[in-house]
Amino acid sequence: MPVSSGRAGMTLVLRAMRALSSDPRRNEVIIPGYTCYSVPAAIERAGLTPRLCDVDPLNLGLDPDHLRRANFSRVLAVITANLYGLPNELTSIEDICREQRVFLLDDAAQALGATVNGRPVGSFGDIGLYSFDKGKIVSTIQGGAIVGRDGPLWSALQAESASLPPASAWHTAGVLAKLMIYAALLRPRLYGVVHALPFTGLGQTIYETQYSIAQLSPVALGVATSLLRRVDQLNSGRRRQAASLRKATADLPGVVQVEPVADSVAVFARFPVRLLDPARRSAAIVALNRAGIGATGSYPLSLADVPEVRTRLAVGSPDCPGAREVASTIVTLPTHAYCPPDTAERVRKVLSQCTA
Ligand SMILES: *Cc1c(COP(=O)(O)O)cnc(C)c1O
Repeated sequence: MPVSSGRAGMTLVLRAMRALSSDPRRNEVIIPGYTCYSVPAAIERAGLTPRLCDVDPLNLGLDPDHLRRANFSRVLAVITANLYGLPNELTSIEDICREQRVFLLDDAAQALGATVNGRPVGSFGDIGLYSFDKGKIVSTIQGGAIVGRDGPLWSALQAESASLPPASAWHTAGVLAKLMIYAALLRPRLYGVVHALPFTGLGQTIYETQYSIAQLSPVALGVATSLLRRVDQLNSGRRRQAASLRKATADLPGVVQVEPVADSVAVFARFPVRLLDPARRSAAIVALNRAGIGATGSYPLSLADVPEVRTRLAVGSPDCPGAREVASTIVTLPTHAYCPPDTAERVRKVLSQCTA
């Protein structure tokens, strides 16, 4: 079911879950301490309260051991993260949610095409979410989709989506203009320009609740449909790029690689590594960008430290040292099809100069 954005879809899903829940006191949503800021913003927009669960710095995912120990007494739903296309421990998370009788929203905004045990990320739990925003696996500048199986929740969502306003003409024109600029700039000879674009990174690092909740514009739907036909090809390119980056960064001192969870196949919307020394990490991000490689420090803070989130957290929401560790050490590297062929080699050179 297409929607105007991933966060719009998330808001609709949370509202539908709330409406279906038999217990009105259940107004909390458990989210990873490290994920896109749009996630807690969508929870606020749906009139619900975030409760954090820590992440495992080794795989960046929601930590099932922490989730098991969470206070579920007022929890309505759990949301996964699957950041950079690396799956969370979805089998365990799904089991825990079933035991606790809470909804599970499998957030595959960055993980279209990834799998765990052969099952697509986005298909775990009750509802899955994909985003077509800037920097995601397929991008129409803005857009998203929710996926699910027949049942009461899906029927409620279909009813909601039928009453959504259409995308405005202005919005459609804006999307079209941005798509044309994006397409024009993403040419090999403009490699240097591409990394300088504000939208080659991933996801929001601002906390914004005033987004539109509407139908996906026909232009974006058309582009998404044609890109989705090529998603396997796009993803195998990303996996190849990730494999060269893994090899190139394998034995660099002070660089820690992220380990995908057991039985998973990642898609690598970005290739994340962790640089343990804060000063070297900042220097490395600057040096990589100076070398024309669009490295980012990803989301700058654990959600526990984001002012708009911190003040709205559920009572007793735990501190998240793992999330803080990820926020202060992560560096993400590009895997898109427009990376020059020698990217991995140049990453190695720059990083060995910064970390030695
Ligand atoms: C981008 C993103 C979203 C929100 O999707 P939008 O289409 O940008 O609204 C939600 N969750 C995660 C993990 C994301 O990366």
